[in-house]
Amino acid sequence: VRLLAVSKKQPLAKIRDAAAAGQRHFGENFVQEGVNKIETLADLNLTWHFIGHLQSNKTRVVAEYFDWVHTIDKIKTARRLSGQRPARLPPLNVCLQVNVDDEDSKAGVAPAALPELAAACAELPNLRLRGLMCLPAIRTEIDEQRAPFAALRHLAEQLRSDGIDTDTLSMGMSADYRAAILEGATIVRIGTSLFGARD
Ligand SMILES: *Cc1c(COP(=O)(O)O)cnc(C)c1O
Repeated sequence: VRLLAVSKKQPLAKIRDAAAAGQRHFGENFVQEGVNKIETLADLNLTWHFIGHLQSNKTRVVAEYFDWVHTIDKIKTARRLSGQRPARLPPLNVCLQVNVDDEDSKAGVAPAALPELAAACAELPNLRLRGLMCLPAIRTEIDEQRAPFAALRHLAEQLRSDGIDTDTLSMGMSADYRAAILEGATIVRIGTSLFGARD
């Protein structure tokens, strides 16, 4: 399981400390904050993941600066990222965000619409479809926390039987990463437990 250190709203000094301790992968939610950190810390050769909500008018900088995007839920966003990915860079690694709880207010593609989105993304030349991501509603009991993560894993298995192979399940945060790991997370996105409370 890969630890993605979520460094949003954390100072540069903490990122440098984590990098000195061997941490390579960092996650940011806000485009401008992320780009500033990527430029300032370029000497460290870190791998940067965009994990925030992505507005379609911000795709260009994300395509130019980040290595991964975890929150794709529309083909329009995926097409823009692929079109804007600079030729000198490898394909952008992407995960599709799934609204596993089917909450009206939540970002993410509905489970029923996932196969079509995945098939379309898999065709885009400058994206590499790595897997699925979810951000479930808050649950306190570990057995309850496991259910949406199991659902995400099943959706990935379904895609595989449709011929779309992925290697990534981005699921679990400070409050629920244990449940996510039990259900097969390959990336856990941890902020508070690692860095302390945000500003
Ligand atoms: C902030 C954030 C995290 C990290 O949350 P913590 O509770 O601080 O571990 C993980 N994933 C996403 C998408 C986030 O926005």
